[in-house]
Amino acid sequence: MAEVRIIFQADKLWLRADAVARIAPEPPFHLPDGIQVQPEATFRLPEGILVQRVAADQPLPPGVEAMGLREAHARMASGAWLQAGRAYQWLEWEAGHRFCGGCATRLEPGEGTGRRCPACGRLVFPAHATAIIVLIQRGEGPGMELALARSPHFQAGVYSAIAGFTEPGESLEQAVHREVKEELGIRIHRLSYFGSQPWPFPNGLMVGFRAHHLDGELQPDPVELEDAGWFRLDALPLLPAPLSIARQLLDTAIRESRPEPSGA
Ligand SMILES: [Zn+2]
Repeated sequence: MAEVRIIFQADKLWLRADAVARIAPEPPFHLPDGIQVQPEATFRLPEGILVQRVAADQPLPPGVEAMGLREAHARMASGAWLQAGRAYQWLEWEAGHRFCGGCATRLEPGEGTGRRCPACGRLVFPAHATAIIVLIQRGEGPGMELALARSPHFQAGVYSAIAGFTEPGESLEQAVHREVKEELGIRIHRLSYFGSQPWPFPNGLMVGFRAHHLDGELQPDPVELEDAGWFRLDALPLLPAPLSIARQLLDTAIRESRPEPSGA
C-alpha cells in the first residue's frame, strides 16, 4: 500500500478526482496507489506525513486533479483541510528559509524545528504572519448592529469584520484597538477572545475577537476600505465564505442575538 502523501503543485493541492462522489472516509489527498512523481521539495510534517511539491509542468496523473486550497475546502472534511493547509504552510516556510536573512549563508538545521546560520549564528524559527480580526457590535439582542467593512479586494457586495496584521512588538489587543481606530475611526471596549484559525494564504494565523462600540462615528479609511457601515441583523450585506473565521464570528453573533425559544 502506498504511503499517504500530501502533494502540491505550485499552490494547488492534488486531490483524488473521484473525491466529490465519495462520501470519503479518508481525506481526498489520499491518492490512488502507484503514483510516481519527481518532487522538487520534500519533507515530513511533525506527525510523519510526507509532503511534496512537484514541478509546475508535471502532468497530472490519471484520477488526480489539482485545486487551490480555497476551492478544495468545499470538497474536504474540516480536519483534512486543516492538515493540508498546515502542510502548505510548512512547505512555504521551508521554501522561504533556505538562506540566512542577515548574511545570505545557507542555513543549517537548528534547535527543534528551527534553523541556524553557521556564519553569523542567527536563529530562525517557523513563524506566522499574525493578523487580528474583530467583530464590533452596538447594542444587544435582535436590535444589535454590527460594524462591517468592505475592502476593494473582496468579492462584489461582500462585507466583513475589521482585520489587519499585527506589527512587531505589539500585543494582539493593541493591534485590535489600533486597527479599529485606523480603519474605522472609532473606539471599542469589552474586547473578548473568540478563537483563532490557521490561514494558509500563504502563512497566516488569524486571531478573532469580539468587541463593543465605545464612542466615535464611522470614518472609513479611504486607502484600505471602499465602504463601512452599521448593519442591522435583518439587513445584512453578503457575508464572507464559510471557511473563514470572519464568517464564524458573524454566524455566532447572529445565533446569539436570536431570542431564547420559550420553554412552553
Ligand atoms: Zn547569517
